[in-house]
Amino acid sequence: RAIDLGAFRDPALARELIERIASVVGDRELNLMEVCGTHTMSIGRYGFRSIMPPGLHLLSGPGCPVCVTANRDIDHVIALAKLDGIVIATFGDMMRVPGSTSSLAAQKAAGHDVRIVYSPLDAVRLAQDNPGLDVIFVGVGFETTTPTIAATILDAAARGLANFSVMSAHKMTPPALRAIADDPETRIDGFILPGHVSTITGLAPYRFLVDEFSIPGVVTGFEPVDILESILLLAEMARGGKPAIENAYRRGVNAEGNPVARAMVDRVFETCDATWRGLGTLPSSGLAIRDEYARFDARRRFDVEIEPTQEQRGCRCGDVLRGAIAPTSCPLFGRACTPEHPIGPCMVSSEGSCAAYFRYRA
Ligand code: SF4
Repeated sequence: RAIDLGAFRDPALARELIERIASVVGDRELNLMEVCGTHTMSIGRYGFRSIMPPGLHLLSGPGCPVCVTANRDIDHVIALAKLDGIVIATFGDMMRVPGSTSSLAAQKAAGHDVRIVYSPLDAVRLAQDNPGLDVIFVGVGFETTTPTIAATILDAAARGLANFSVMSAHKMTPPALRAIADDPETRIDGFILPGHVSTITGLAPYRFLVDEFSIPGVVTGFEPVDILESILLLAEMARGGKPAIENAYRRGVNAEGNPVARAMVDRVFETCDATWRGLGTLPSSGLAIRDEYARFDARRRFDVEIEPTQEQRGCRCGDVLRGAIAPTSCPLFGRACTPEHPIGPCMVSSEGSCAAYFRYRA
């Protein structure tokens, strides 16, 4: 049955929620963080930061997959792109992300074979159509993306494809939430939890926020009323209610998530430590391809020398991603760094906090 989204965009309901938020927050200081690139864009698009009570701060966390990808991983892909006979297949937003000294766009301009694809299956087709080339798909994303990548690897295995592999830089959301909850420099009073990711994970992986840190969380959707409702629920819990993990996105998420999708991911991937921009190396926060599918693992198939990692000079993406500063506090924001001339990944990706702040002047 089609869902009528009109109710989730109802201006009268939105106004009522905004008034209730103001009355619940009063003159308190509250830090709420979203950890989903689509929420980042929605909050910017609807101008919610500017209409919240002065003490309520909406922070953007590590919800943009391109932004959290470490320079070392980007440098690794760039090193792979330089090999003869290789095609790098990637989603478009990875093209302009700067590594230590280069980007995939620069490698393409230099004559290396880098192609934009719209799904990993396009990369499989590319491999099938070009048996003389090795196609490497750049796997970046959270729990929402990984089931498709796992299905693609299983499909490539079923087809017996020998010239397709994945450079996995996939990450999982809960370890990043743990790192932020545990960060003494960042005080978070509640998390606006990701809608898409939670369709796969369900609610259980977030329980530790309440059990170990007494921080509430609300899973929500992307319409104005969804976001405002999650802010109101978090403000009420932070004001003295019992912290809990609530689901305000029942039309999209059920408490159990999608066990079939998780089982497919488990078949192909195992957890590994992963390095996140801004958060460092977090234990069991990444996904590596299992030994059984090692022939599809570009990290193991191709031996490359990776240049020493350097961070972009002056870029504060790391601090932005852990909510320590707002993008506008970066001295380069809107001056040296704009979407046309991005210096860090948070300005490159449309889901990046700096790009959202710039676009919507939040
Ligand atoms: Fe980095 Fe640009 Fe954002 Fe500053 S404004 S943190 S330089 S991406």
